[in-house]
Amino acid sequence: MTRTIQTTYRYRLNPTVAQEILLNQFAGARRFVWNWALDRKKTHYQQTGGTLGFAALSAELTALKQQPGTAWLREMDSQSLQQALRDLDSAYQHFFRRIKRGEKRKGFPRFKSRKTDTPRFRIPQRVELHAESVSVPKIGMIRAVVHRPLEGVTKGATFKREPSGHWFVSLVTEQQAAPRTERPVQTHVGIDVGLKSLAVYSTGETIANPRWYRTQRRKLRRAQQALSRKVRGSHNRDKARVVVARLHQKIRNQRNDFLHKLSTDLVRHYDLVSIEDLSIRGLAKTKLATSVLDAGWGMFRSMLEYKADRNDTHVVAIGRFFASSKMCGTCGWIHELTLAVREWDCLNPACGVHHDRDVNAARNIDREGKRLFDLRVAAGHAET
Ligand SMILES: [Zn+2]
Repeated sequence: MTRTIQTTYRYRLNPTVAQEILLNQFAGARRFVWNWALDRKKTHYQQTGGTLGFAALSAELTALKQQPGTAWLREMDSQSLQQALRDLDSAYQHFFRRIKRGEKRKGFPRFKSRKTDTPRFRIPQRVELHAESVSVPKIGMIRAVVHRPLEGVTKGATFKREPSGHWFVSLVTEQQAAPRTERPVQTHVGIDVGLKSLAVYSTGETIANPRWYRTQRRKLRRAQQALSRKVRGSHNRDKARVVVARLHQKIRNQRNDFLHKLSTDLVRHYDLVSIEDLSIRGLAKTKLATSVLDAGWGMFRSMLEYKADRNDTHVVAIGRFFASSKMCGTCGWIHELTLAVREWDCLNPACGVHHDRDVNAARNIDREGKRLFDLRVAAGHAET
């Protein structure tokens, strides 16, 4: 049985002035159709108590395009307008699923305002990547920074304008892959998210925070201070806001590149990678505050998991109640350690082993991960 693997590729666009106007118009048309359809659904519900579905709305949209006031919609890509209706539909379904599950009554689809909505639109088909450009229906060839080639069949494209003012396209591709092969786990590693460094492996290897991170953060802080001093509503404030947004974007791009390399490296070298489950906000705050993983832990974890899946590597996340840093890896004795303690000696009189805090934690994570993995294999569920 083959598997379908989905991948998202994101490329920066360099549109001409005329193309940028069109991109903004497409995004405006999406917002217009969304708001119009939301209004139609609400009115229909008030009048009849029933729902106005995708097919009915789609027919109404076709009629709308024939009216003189809204004939400009005909100049937009029709599939992208249909996609706006589909997006609204799934927003509705998402909301009602939450209600069914008894969750809070929030998240009902809202009208999108020009001021707060990120300009974006989706085209489900016919967007193609070339060596140095992307071809877009009704717009043509837009120059793009193609930093990595695309694999698989393109299934859809999302165009988005970041706060920095730059346009990006995300292309989702699908490809068929051979089923996972189960190979015996021979090499395994545990990763502790470090306090001073980025991460420490159970092998003793330390991954330092990249040097650019500190520099960029300093620049960002300065830019944010400059922004706060600018008069509200002034032209200078707008300019300062763009500077801040561009720095954020630069840091995000560099972080992603870095985490891509790190995760690729891990799945190439190990059959099993054990990590901490840091999804709990409080823990993440204390541990990651100054690390490049600060905002990127979730991303790192998902990169690691999807790459592991392709490489027949396994990833195990250790629950947050596992005392990885407080337990002596040699004898299992639990200690009370403050965050300031970097190295310590085991207090068990029969043990007394000297530990580096992070390496000991990483080793405990490695051992616990291997134990959980073996349990799963024994139970017949190895596929994680
Ligand atoms: Zn001990």
